[in-house]
Amino acid sequence: MTRNANRLVVLGAAESGVGAALLGVQKGWDVFVSDYGSIAGKYKTELEQANVLFEERKHTEELILNADCVVKSPGISDKVSIVQKVRAAGIEVCSEIEFGYRYKADSKIVAITGSNGKSTVTSMTYHIFKNAAYDVALVGNIGRSFARQIAVRPCEWYVMEVSSFQLDDIHTFKPDVAVLTNITPDHLDRYDYKLENYVRSKFRITENQTEGDYFITNGEDPIIQDYISTHFIHSNTIYFTMSEQNNMHEGGFIDNEKMNIRFNGEELNMSIHDLSLKGKHNQSNSMAAGISARIAGIRKEKIRESFSTFKGIEHRLEFVATIRGVDFINDSKATNVNSVWYALESMTKPTVLILGGQDKGNDYSQLSDLIKEKVKAIVCLTADSNAIHEAFDGVVEQVLDTTTAKDAVNAAYALAEKGDIVLLSPACASFDLFKNYEERGDMFKEAVKSL
Ligand code: ADP
Repeated sequence: MTRNANRLVVLGAAESGVGAALLGVQKGWDVFVSDYGSIAGKYKTELEQANVLFEERKHTEELILNADCVVKSPGISDKVSIVQKVRAAGIEVCSEIEFGYRYKADSKIVAITGSNGKSTVTSMTYHIFKNAAYDVALVGNIGRSFARQIAVRPCEWYVMEVSSFQLDDIHTFKPDVAVLTNITPDHLDRYDYKLENYVRSKFRITENQTEGDYFITNGEDPIIQDYISTHFIHSNTIYFTMSEQNNMHEGGFIDNEKMNIRFNGEELNMSIHDLSLKGKHNQSNSMAAGISARIAGIRKEKIRESFSTFKGIEHRLEFVATIRGVDFINDSKATNVNSVWYALESMTKPTVLILGGQDKGNDYSQLSDLIKEKVKAIVCLTADSNAIHEAFDGVVEQVLDTTTAKDAVNAAYALAEKGDIVLLSPACASFDLFKNYEERGDMFKEAVKSL
């Protein structure tokens, strides 16, 4: 097998893989893209237009194992045989953010990870930077891939949503500001069912940081605190907490219904009632975004203004409509128990909860108290409702089964009375009945609109 100089092989041709391929071509790599599944038409067209060779529905070893560097898409597990062969051959494996990082020049990065709230904090932070007229791009798991953004329009700042899978193959990636929102068990199937592996992977966001960088994290998250107490973080750690911390020198806290952010000897205050996004979790998210913005030098007034105008993002506690006095809320992105906990916590009226999907081994008992307090009926939207019946039969009066968004909405509407809420917050992945959580949310919204 001959080795070409600078041969870049990209495994997986979706947003991050195609982004890496386009950046690679631009930077003079000899690029080849290989996807074991089918490649979406729009990506094929892009690769063809950039004269990138690619294959689909197979991995041809001769064309892959001669790489100098392999960019592996975050969706591909390390257990896949071609990845194992690449590693065994001693070829460098990078994630797309690592590859992009090498071409970021002197731009700055705010990188956001965590089990829940990544997209919300990322969009909120971007909104503040944009509102302050910074030259900024929203990249990563949300929007364009980092590598693509660098290829098409490099910016001074990148606000980036990063998953633990993207962090698994970094080597030099070093954000100027790293945010870790929280850690609850998720995706453990990819981490040999070991929480410590998942936690270690999340903390890799800090691994190359040095004294001049910042690490913003949750001061009340036991898993995060446990890790920090036993590992040295080189950057400046700044906490946000939901409890009063008047002695806090730098960081964010809530006290008397006021959000406080202290940084560099200055304090920003804002009533929690003026935040456009409701719910306690969004107070945490706002503090994380606000601290990042202060570090980047954005004025307090701009930050306050941005918090009151931020619209939120689709499928996250998204208000859909009020029909005959019943509010419908789409929280399809709530794919784990923790997100549902926060969703229920922020409900202020009796709730009919649409729950279920592809269960990743949920422990529903964590929801029992809130369900007893706030939920009048549960409508299961899943191919297999056994675990939900086991957890909640007898706890709430009615637990009904449905398998389409339309039936779920009709059933929930029939159970709801004027002044109630129908909340889709499934605690599960969507793949049993839908293509993805977006499709589940869209079908929910469609069904509501046709009531
Ligand atoms: P991610 O990108 O990490 O999946 P999102 O911002 O898309 O997170 O939110 C996913 C779900 O989690 C939504 O249902 C949302 O209401 C809920 N959520 C948002 N922020 C938090 C938080 N800080 N803690 C717990 N749940 C949250």
